[in-house]
Amino acid sequence: MTFTAINFTCSSCGAPQKFSPATGTLICEFCRTQTPIKVSQNTIYEYNFTQAIATLNTQKNQTIEKNIKCQKCGSTFTLTPYSFSSNCPYCQTPAIIDFIHEITPKALIPFSLSHKEAQIRFIHWIGSRWFAPNALKKYLNEDSVLTGYYLPYWTYDSDTTTSYQGLRGDIYYVTVTKTIVENGRPRQIQVQEAHINWKPVNGVVYVSFDDVTIGASKTISRAILDSLEPWDTTSLVSYDEKYLSGFEAEEYTIGLDNGFEFAKVKMAYQIEQNIRYDIGGDQQEIQNIHTKYNNVTYKNVLFPVWTASFEWKNKTYHYAINAQTGKVVGERPYSSMKIIFAILSILGVVGGFLYLNETGILQELINSSVILFR
Ligand SMILES: [Zn+2]
Ligand SMILES: [Zn+2]
Repeated sequence: MTFTAINFTCSSCGAPQKFSPATGTLICEFCRTQTPIKVSQNTIYEYNFTQAIATLNTQKNQTIEKNIKCQKCGSTFTLTPYSFSSNCPYCQTPAIIDFIHEITPKALIPFSLSHKEAQIRFIHWIGSRWFAPNALKKYLNEDSVLTGYYLPYWTYDSDTTTSYQGLRGDIYYVTVTKTIVENGRPRQIQVQEAHINWKPVNGVVYVSFDDVTIGASKTISRAILDSLEPWDTTSLVSYDEKYLSGFEAEEYTIGLDNGFEFAKVKMAYQIEQNIRYDIGGDQQEIQNIHTKYNNVTYKNVLFPVWTASFEWKNKTYHYAINAQTGKVVGERPYSSMKIIFAILSILGVVGGFLYLNETGILQELINSSVILFR
């Protein structure tokens, strides 16, 4: 299927304009002319979840191929089925096309961290990891390893009612007599012994949730998406293609219904805290939980993320930066040698090397592991 791309041209020289996080305007890369973006005063609505699920056609347009003819150089290129904003691979002119899903983003958080700032943050972050391989630090100093993505997210609101059954444990002390041996002679002493009195409890807790955010993209792992939080959804603005110009953007690949299942897991954590508080006592055991989700509403939004992935010793590592807050998260390769030397210096003996070798720890370190960290 061939799509016609739109882009924004400079009023002075006719060259394409791209969104600049630094100025919050469109900017011409040739003559630096800026075009302000008129911020829409439209209300950002929440939509009824149950109604949407009942009417959504989930089978539609799943495997569409998007062929795009560049407005500037005339080349044709193909986007992935869920991508709707990119740059022409031949002349770098922005190309924004129509959505294929029924639910389209009505709001977004614009990029506020520029490419340069993101680069600096990441280099600083990896530099503060002493165990990162030096070659990696060098690689990341090079330009253009970062790609800016507007990633799809669902936000969910819900008023929850949860009935529970469980046990409340109250600690009480009993004075008992014990025999101890002192200076070779037995002596009796009185000690306090802790016991727990468990009694069955049940109750109902009500928790309201506002904007539980769930990443709806498969481009980045869920672990990384979750670690990029929190997002300040109070700075959402009405959707406008101008914010996308020059950036990649994706439609959701995790549906409204599946997204809500992820949201339930997040809500369950908070609900459990409230149940424990409701039970009270010194210890709580929750045996049965039943939650009803009332007044569920949703929004489909775009959040700004700088991402990169790199190959390191036959493994791919991913990292991402929240382009609203500047928070960096990622997987990292270790420098095996740096870790080995650190351990050796702690052990302080040459024998340490032999010890590591014999126990197989050395091999494990050399195979090096991936750990997600924030
Ligand atoms: Zn211009
Ligand atoms: Zn082109």
